[in-house]
Amino acid sequence: MTPDEILSVVPRGKEFVNKLQVLFSQPGGIRVDDVKDVNKSPAATRFMEQAEMYSQDEAGYKERTQALLEFGKISMDLWQGIYDNADAELKAILVASNFNPCREPRTKGTSQLRDGYRVDPICNMQNAVEHAHNMKRDYENIGYKNCKILSPAEVMALDPYLTDFCKSHTVADQAGVLTWRSDCIALWRPGGCLDAQVFLPKLYDYLKKTMGTYADELGKTQNCFQLHLGKEVQGVEFGKNGDKTIVTGLRFADGQVIRDNNCSYVFCPGEAVGTLKKFGFKEPAYAGFAGASLKFYIPVPADKIAYYANFNHCMEVHQVGIVQPFQSRVRDGKIDIAVAGTKAFYADQKPNKNEAFGKNRNLLQFNIVNEVLPECMSLALGRDTKGQTLTQADLDYLEKNNLVKRWVGTRAVVYDGFPTLGAVYNHEGVEVANARVTTHLGSGGASFGPASVTVSRGFKNQEVLKNPVMSKVLNFAKSDRVADQHRAAKA
Ligand SMILES: Cc1cc2nc3c(=O)[nH]c(=O)nc-3n(C[C@H](O)[C@H](O)[C@H](O)COP(=O)(O)OP(=O)(O)OC[C@H]3O[C@@H](n4cnc5c(N)ncnc54)[C@H](O)[C@@H]3O)c2cc1C
Repeated sequence: MTPDEILSVVPRGKEFVNKLQVLFSQPGGIRVDDVKDVNKSPAATRFMEQAEMYSQDEAGYKERTQALLEFGKISMDLWQGIYDNADAELKAILVASNFNPCREPRTKGTSQLRDGYRVDPICNMQNAVEHAHNMKRDYENIGYKNCKILSPAEVMALDPYLTDFCKSHTVADQAGVLTWRSDCIALWRPGGCLDAQVFLPKLYDYLKKTMGTYADELGKTQNCFQLHLGKEVQGVEFGKNGDKTIVTGLRFADGQVIRDNNCSYVFCPGEAVGTLKKFGFKEPAYAGFAGASLKFYIPVPADKIAYYANFNHCMEVHQVGIVQPFQSRVRDGKIDIAVAGTKAFYADQKPNKNEAFGKNRNLLQFNIVNEVLPECMSLALGRDTKGQTLTQADLDYLEKNNLVKRWVGTRAVVYDGFPTLGAVYNHEGVEVANARVTTHLGSGGASFGPASVTVSRGFKNQEVLKNPVMSKVLNFAKSDRVADQHRAAKA
């Protein structure tokens, strides 16, 4: 949960094309070679062309990046608003889901974890100090005023569970005072977290209960809020309402067709990039960027229960070409560590955890966890792993014994890295009056969710349009956008 989460996936224009030549396992690389045609499918080619064209508009790119950062801040504030205004039941759900805010600290005086800011270690990076200062400047520009560089002693005081990490990335002077190695530093920066896996089912139950029931046409009681999982939409039917083009119905994979002219349709296909195009709407050049994740669930031994009593933190570890978010805590007597991140270009294909990308990145992530929290990996593997390079056999052992779950997923992105929000247009470019879209949220769907929904839902609402950031975002996020506009801007 950060205001810049959405910026972390798509390398831009020429940089993107260059990085596509570099294998994902090399610094900055995003190419995979073991997935047939992934770099030359029609969707891949169109994405590359549009990304290249977009790269020509330097000023436009800067303006969009700044708009996304400001939009991210709005979304962080909306998340906080959800928490502050929640009833007791929803607040308890957020707490159980490890909601940690991203906002200015509310405790006066000393800095503390879980009060809007967190510790982000930056390590094994030649320009670590410059990287930290650039991050600090970006956050200050959007209104976060409490960023600071942390000394190793400050990091250990804030989070004693990072002691091993601090000791292995520092040098000690004669008096034993630790200073960071030249390629490491830590930044105190705005950032929070949410355990979506816990949150989503609880939120669903809450909404079902809170929104109540109604009697359907057969007199049967139905919940007002419903999810119909497994109902794949295969096609959309269009028609007219007066001179307006509208969606009149949906065709499902199981053969069912539902026709209804009087409802609104919101399309949020997320990972399923290309769905809008398939349904007959305009969709900006799209691609999926794979990302990998590991979720550890390690029983806490009886003699360590007191030691791990306060184990609860979130952070991102930054290395060259890698940002690895961590969410760690003790839950139901187990150490629960979730890490994610890394990226590779998958165009319109779906990644699989046993392809080269998934296997290699999961192993890398495993070793980063061991670098940061060696005590936890030692508990999992039953031996001292401090300073060791862990192997595929170690990871296989943990997976077989249900101590870790491996996963790869896709971030849905557009050539300019911007989400797609608001009105939808048919293939002829005609706005469809009773439909809208909220998708292509890339690596920031959780962080940017509340702001994206507000803008998408309010695309004709004067209150939303009066907000300069929201109206700018809505304009950049139009679902009929093409990169030719950027070539024209450059000219
Ligand atoms: C490795 C990884 C790490 C990430 N880390 C973060 C992070 O730290 N912070 C953050 O904010 N975000 C993060 N994200 C991004 C975030 O997970 C996504 O942006 C978010 O889940 C997108 O939500 P969505 O609802 O738009 O799409 P999705 O979650 O993809 O949901 C789309 C839904 O639509 C359904 N659907 C699609 N097509 C059809 C159809 N034809 N018919 C019926 N249903 C259909 C799908 O089944 C799915 O349920 C990460 C993503 C990955 C892969």
